[in-house]
Amino acid sequence: MTIARTWFPLTGPVRALRRGPVAEAKVIVDPLDGPKLALAGRVVTMDDAFRVEADGVVYVEKGSVVAVRARAEPAPASFEATGVVETGGTLFPGLIELHNHLSYNALPLWSVPKRYDHRGQWPNHPDYRKLISGPMTVIGELKGADGTSPLLPALIRYVECKCLLGGVTTTQGVKLASNAGIQRFYRGLIRNVEQTGDKDLPEAQGRIPDIEAKDARWFLGRLQKEDSCLLLHLAEGVTDPAHADDGVARRHFAALQIAPAEWALDEHFTGIHSAGLIPEDFDVLASHRSSIVWSPFSNLLLYGGTARVEAAKAAGVTIGLGSDWSPSGSKNLLGELKVASLYNEQLLNGLFKTRELVAMATRNAAQILKWTTAAGTLEPGKRADLIVIDGAAGDPYDALIRARETDLLLVMINGVARYGTKELMGAFVPQDQSVKVDGETRRLFLKQESADPAVSPVSLAIAIDTLRDALKNIAKLAKKAETARAKPKPEARRALDAPEPVTWSLALDEIADTGMELRPRLPLDGPRDFTGPSKVTRSSVREAAAQPLSTLLEPIELDALTVADDDDFLDQVESEANVPERIRKGLRALY
Ligand SMILES: [Zn+2]
Repeated sequence: MTIARTWFPLTGPVRALRRGPVAEAKVIVDPLDGPKLALAGRVVTMDDAFRVEADGVVYVEKGSVVAVRARAEPAPASFEATGVVETGGTLFPGLIELHNHLSYNALPLWSVPKRYDHRGQWPNHPDYRKLISGPMTVIGELKGADGTSPLLPALIRYVECKCLLGGVTTTQGVKLASNAGIQRFYRGLIRNVEQTGDKDLPEAQGRIPDIEAKDARWFLGRLQKEDSCLLLHLAEGVTDPAHADDGVARRHFAALQIAPAEWALDEHFTGIHSAGLIPEDFDVLASHRSSIVWSPFSNLLLYGGTARVEAAKAAGVTIGLGSDWSPSGSKNLLGELKVASLYNEQLLNGLFKTRELVAMATRNAAQILKWTTAAGTLEPGKRADLIVIDGAAGDPYDALIRARETDLLLVMINGVARYGTKELMGAFVPQDQSVKVDGETRRLFLKQESADPAVSPVSLAIAIDTLRDALKNIAKLAKKAETARAKPKPEARRALDAPEPVTWSLALDEIADTGMELRPRLPLDGPRDFTGPSKVTRSSVREAAAQPLSTLLEPIELDALTVADDDDFLDQVESEANVPERIRKGLRALY
């Protein structure tokens, strides 16, 4: 059965819903109609009992897990003739990332110049426009002669592959905006929490209309309407417990209290970061069954502190994990798991069991999304989103934390092998593309029946060349955009009733006003005392009057796809002054 869904190309008119039979069985993707597969290895199910099958087989059909059995047990009915593929490794559910601004992940790690207390501060540092918002504005807004974005398909290809190389099978999406005023998410290879097109995977929201962001009644009403969750930034910064009531980051949370015994919180609320909360705040979250997303590396880089996850655990708050974005965060969720583990070991005395950390990136994330019937574990009925890491000895959870990017042998999404070794990929899919990771050849299978026509012809190799060149010449491209903006629009000459082709660009909601907010900004001290960082529109006005980007920007190096292929990453992490010494110096040992 093919799930009927509307999808939108990046270029040209919006096509009608595509129906009808799909191509040969081997290349079928998201629709739940893939072939029978059997993968053998050690299987870490992440189920309620944390069952590990030391020598097991995962049986997959139509994109879903049919059974997880010990190898000695008979195969399920109708799988008798299915060849068992030896993975030689340990299988886990695919990693689910609950927070990432994917669009920014071509940019390298920022050497954070000072320690900040909250999110309102660092966007004012001159570096921010020069290294982050400026280059992204150019990449997001540049248009070719035909009105389409020349860089967007390459960017999307690149950041999705970066996820695959880190074992990520689900993440937050790339937001796009069209000239017709439509906003939507790019739907590609990686599952996107905000656009699944699948009733078993209710869609999360990552943004709320302005009005709902600053009106408690609207906001609570919106929460109650959700069937997944609202993933919203919360209390981004640190709070000194001695002056907890004055903390800017924490005001953001306090504003969610709309009456003495009433909070704009419920089981659909998920606070991203939540670093500025004090222990009693987690009791409030827990009593409303709200959850949080922990992004330790980003928080430590910017603020020198992170969410009090020990208090969240004590209160019983469900914790997910996210790597935020590459300018201040891990390259992928596998990397973020390493930081979380190191933080747990060095600063929390090993309070969390290793399997609890792995749960944050798998089963907890599925719980937060209300996807527990379809994702987060390897159990019958779940989507076949899985990863395989090399080796099957020792503690499996430790093995995942310690896995190098080269130890990742396979990444499968919806029963389709997307990335892995030559041997394993060859067992499941036709040859497509390859990539070197730390000198080792890995295969990618990026063909997709529902692929976006603008992205599908762009190989990873082309994407790398395109972006490397664009970032190197970013000032030149800025000049081109500035010149084009100064010219009258050709649309003005078009006949009034001529249909305008739909073109898409990035909706960079961290740096441009999209009419949607990533944060509730409810008033705390009266109707005009909105909390959270100031609105982006004001900075956009400043931007217009500021130095042109063409004279400000300098060549930028494309961020490497993996830590294994980045000669500077670990050295730079070591020199990041805000990160506690035991973390910045200890991270290297986990790679
Ligand atoms: Zn964020």
